[in-house]
Amino acid sequence: MERPSEFSVCVTKDYLVFASAHFITFAGHRCEGLHGHNYRASVVVEGALNPDSWFVFDFVELKRLMRRLCDEIDHKVLLPLKSSRVTIVEQGDSISVAVDGQNRYVFPASDCALLPIPNTTVEMLAELLARRLRSELESAGSTSLTSIKMDVEENFGQSASCTLRLG
Ligand SMILES: [Zn+2]
Repeated sequence: MERPSEFSVCVTKDYLVFASAHFITFAGHRCEGLHGHNYRASVVVEGALNPDSWFVFDFVELKRLMRRLCDEIDHKVLLPLKSSRVTIVEQGDSISVAVDGQNRYVFPASDCALLPIPNTTVEMLAELLARRLRSELESAGSTSLTSIKMDVEENFGQSASCTLRLG
């Protein structure tokens, strides 16, 4: 018997970008200075064909969800809430950032995105976006998908991806 076909859909668009500032910490006491990237996200979702429409997932809906996730962190300073070395303290409208116990930056709170990740590497950003997309898909009642592969590029030809298996 012929094995069933497998299907996936991919969305990569010029507008799935977020221009954001970040710094990452390295092993030891090394830490980058604050700088920015024009990050770009793309996603592949795999799953069963919808028996009514013969597609895996609606492109319009997937583009809309991805754009929203990118907009949430566009034009922000990306800060890691789960870092053991970066301490983030909110004081009124300001956010103070210390690295290895040394005060380093103070930002307006409205310019920051506080993210539940240990370091703002592209790997962790890809995982974060994949998880955010999964929760959006779950609340939309989408159950036929089997995986999400999220890719985040921080420079041309320099990207990381994260795959979440669903169900
Ligand atoms: Zn960087």
